Amino acid sequence: MTDRIAIASLPRDVIGLCARLREHGRRGWIVGGCVRDRLLGREVNDWDICTDARPNELLAIFPRAIPTGIEHGTVTVVVDKRHYEVTTLRGEGAYTDGRRPDSVEFVDDLTADLARRDFTCNAIALDPSNGQVIDPFGGQGDLALGILRAVGVAIDRFSEDGLRVLRAARFVATLGLELDPETERAIAPTLDTYRKVSAERIRDEWVKAMKARAPSRAFEVMRRVGILAITCPELLEGVGMEQNAYHRWDVWRHGMEALDASQGDAVLRLAALFHDIGKPKTRGRNDKSGEYTFYEHERVGAELVEPIALRLRFSNEERARMVHLVRHHLVQYGPDWSDAAVRRWLQRVGTACLTDLFAICEADERAKGLTSEPDLGRLLGLKAHVERVVAAGAALSTRDLCLNGSDLMEALGLAPGRRVGEVLRALLDVVINDPLENDRERLLSHARRILEGAVDSP
Ligand code: ATP
Ligand code: MG
Repeated sequence: MTDRIAIASLPRDVIGLCARLREHGRRGWIVGGCVRDRLLGREVNDWDICTDARPNELLAIFPRAIPTGIEHGTVTVVVDKRHYEVTTLRGEGAYTDGRRPDSVEFVDDLTADLARRDFTCNAIALDPSNGQVIDPFGGQGDLALGILRAVGVAIDRFSEDGLRVLRAARFVATLGLELDPETERAIAPTLDTYRKVSAERIRDEWVKAMKARAPSRAFEVMRRVGILAITCPELLEGVGMEQNAYHRWDVWRHGMEALDASQGDAVLRLAALFHDIGKPKTRGRNDKSGEYTFYEHERVGAELVEPIALRLRFSNEERARMVHLVRHHLVQYGPDWSDAAVRRWLQRVGTACLTDLFAICEADERAKGLTSEPDLGRLLGLKAHVERVVAAGAALSTRDLCLNGSDLMEALGLAPGRRVGEVLRALLDVVINDPLENDRERLLSHARRILEGAVDSP
């Protein structure tokens, strides 16, 4: 534990801002997550400052400050395009709505401000004038022990603000801490407060948790304390659900392993988390082998993810990506696949999501847990085969055909309408089966036969 840290290691802007406050007879401290991250030797994203200057004084001291949250005492000071939040010290207000204090009470006492913060490791301040660490709640000691502990009486803190439970789960994952048992026990009695947290804030915390090396740590906490049952009960149906000879883990644990094994952005990792969410609803048994089967779990899973992503207020684009990845995560590629089979698969899944899809397939494979090294052979085979097919310039969408709708209408006297699209899609099927057919004259003769009804259109 340190009482002081080297001032030279702090950003000059922050030291300058606090010096400016001192010139005006006020004080400034660095506080919160940035101090925690600095003490942990992690990269600091935002340096937050708290001060005993009142909001109106802040605007006088920093005339160009942006009054971003002036009613809560926060202004944003911009130095060389970098933004710093400077906030007047606040005390504990009463929380009656479980989301925000009823009123903001400005105080002069730094300890009172630290006391209203959520966890001991987030309640440490740093005086940049001398490097002194101010840690009245033992945050450094808890960090050294690897413990996340509520400041003060945990049950009170969780009853004030339901978001804190979710932050707890997130920090367990991102900081690699364990939740203090007493802090954890205080959560179950306060779940009614958790229920008031908005879907957007839940989504934001989930997304932040995805930055952890092992986000499953957050989800294990959420499951244990009961908030996952409130936010996403669909995931819990996999708990204890046995699979088959291809899997070591139950459906839940397999999802957790896939989540941790996945590499990519938050949406991709969430798709890995959800990829088998359709299994509980589709489990059956093979009559002969007696093994469990999960036919169409990828289709049912995609249907389940759609409303979950909607509920959590992901954007349309994010939701579509998640659903698409779950829908297509199951690829039963084998050496028997012809080039046409690969082309048909590419037509179905689209080339835009290939990198994501391969990442999900790899995470899925790594999460099976049967062998110490995952068998990625089939996936590598598929990747190589896809590369060959794409390099050969195969037509995979109607845009790749060597004629378009206007050509069809002109050459065959077709009127604009639905039929044009239908014929184009039928021609694409022909070309996907045999790329040599992608020739204007050949396609026109196929089109004639389709229109005469000799060949079914899709
Ligand atoms: P990160 O920036 O990595 O999300 P953080 O801990 O810095 O984590 P912020 O939202 O930036 O989180 O908040 C800054 C500080 O404000 C926290 O460290 C904590 O001291 C305090 N804080 C934030 N949210 C809460 C809350 N819901 N209850 C109590 N204190 C909070
Ligand atoms: Mg922060």
